[in-house]
Amino acid sequence: MCGYCGKDFNIIKCPYQKDHLIPEYIAKKYGRFDLLTDYNNLVYSCRVCNRNKWHNWPFDNVDKTHDDKVGFVDPATDEFDQHMARDEAGRIIPITDVGKYMYEIFNFSNRLTEVWWKLSIIRKELNEIDDMLKKEETVNGLSQYWKMHRKFDVFLEKLREENESI
Ligand SMILES: [Zn+2]
Repeated sequence: MCGYCGKDFNIIKCPYQKDHLIPEYIAKKYGRFDLLTDYNNLVYSCRVCNRNKWHNWPFDNVDKTHDDKVGFVDPATDEFDQHMARDEAGRIIPITDVGKYMYEIFNFSNRLTEVWWKLSIIRKELNEIDDMLKKEETVNGLSQYWKMHRKFDVFLEKLREENESI
């Protein structure tokens, strides 16, 4: 899934991109070509997050990713959870100044981060039902399952059509 917004690439069927936490242009400027392919500097990202971050970088160096006021935190680290969280609806919310900086760069206030969150949960629940039914093989259970599956597919299809730019 996208490290920044949590969009599940399998659900939305979009290809992932590789965001450079420390941007390519800064890495090149300071001769740090290792950062272009260093796994620790790469973040699986959706197209929208990658585009929003793009050349936004508050520092003219490769020494730090944030200064406790502005900048970015690697979403693959535990530190990320100190700056960003989710509210009860599943919406991404900032906790710190750095969190607020990222929240604005990624334009999370105008994006349906809670929808992707909920879809991931629904998908997980469907997989669990699937496993249960494989074991119990009840006719009624199967019929419920397929109804839910069809609803889910219709919901996803509509969402994909209406929200290509989210
Ligand atoms: Zn994203």
